Amino acid sequence: MSSSDGKLRYDGRVAVVTGAGAGLGREYALLLAERGAKVVVNDLGGTHSGEGASQRAADIVVEEIRKAGGEAVADYNSVIEGAKVIETAVNAFGRVDILVNNAGILRDRSLVKTSEQDWNLVNDVHLKGSFKCTQAAFAHMKKQNYGRIIMTSSNSGIYGNFGQANYSAAKMGLVGLANTVAIEGARNNILCNVIVPTAASRMTEGILPDILFNELKPKLIAPVVAYLCHESCEDNGSYIESAAGWATKVHTVRGQGAVLRPTLDEPVTIEYVKDVWSKVTDMSKAKHLGAIAEASGTLLEVLEKLKAGG
Ligand code: NAD
Repeated sequence: MSSSDGKLRYDGRVAVVTGAGAGLGREYALLLAERGAKVVVNDLGGTHSGEGASQRAADIVVEEIRKAGGEAVADYNSVIEGAKVIETAVNAFGRVDILVNNAGILRDRSLVKTSEQDWNLVNDVHLKGSFKCTQAAFAHMKKQNYGRIIMTSSNSGIYGNFGQANYSAAKMGLVGLANTVAIEGARNNILCNVIVPTAASRMTEGILPDILFNELKPKLIAPVVAYLCHESCEDNGSYIESAAGWATKVHTVRGQGAVLRPTLDEPVTIEYVKDVWSKVTDMSKAKHLGAIAEASGTLLEVLEKLKAGG
């Protein structure tokens, strides 16, 4: 939907933005509401490491939206209670069209010092929370044959980052979750994409260098997420990195690989693996695979080759 001045609109759409009481989520909620969406501002309101709770964070953003003439309600549940978060949307507005899984916390420790509690809480909020909210929203989206879902990943997951084993694992887990949600939702026009943001927020204060911190305004990423949530955006299963008024698609790629034995009858030996290792790791002809069937397809080709004698 767009207005006569060409602006993309979300009238009639109901958006749930988790962790929308601050940082990136707040900007997503403000922008979607400004463009006509009815917004559920979810936020538990705890500390950045997941302690405590407060209604204040969500209430302030709801107030901001209403003052600007928009429609919003607050939801104070933890995303781990995803069904309750989505129930707030359905009770207040009767449906849910857009879900931005954004809520997050940090408990940074080196691998050796990561306690089971730090591991569990970070994975629960990011990964399980996104799963629970998505599962609950998906049921409604399926009935209405429409939905737009965003998962929030991180460069810490994609590239790793010292002291963030729990967070990196959760953030890469979200990429896997998005891959499958994108496949399961496609036939019902439920599209799922991943945002990989870098922005100044309480989460990155003291981590990002000052010169970067001041330029990485969360507001600059909101239009990218809003576009991914619009009915005119047909991307599905994309990972979009964005920061500082810049965005790019990120892909996984696979090399051509190497056959590890001369014929089907021969074993794979460590020595043979060593001999062809430079071919195994050669990425000069790497390409992106669009689906798991393409990966299996190559395996069939390899077997055919081996059957034919290498
Ligand atoms: P932020 O701390 O400003 O905002 C996160 C919000 O989530 C907070 O308001 C917090 O109260 C809320 N929250 C935490 N646990 C919750 C729970 N269980 N239920 C509901 N709400 C909860 O951080 P941010 O930088 O705006 O981060 C937003 C998202 O972007 C996070 O998922 C984060 O991991 C991700 N991310 C941020 C950056 C960055 O550079 N800021 C980089 C990569 C990924």
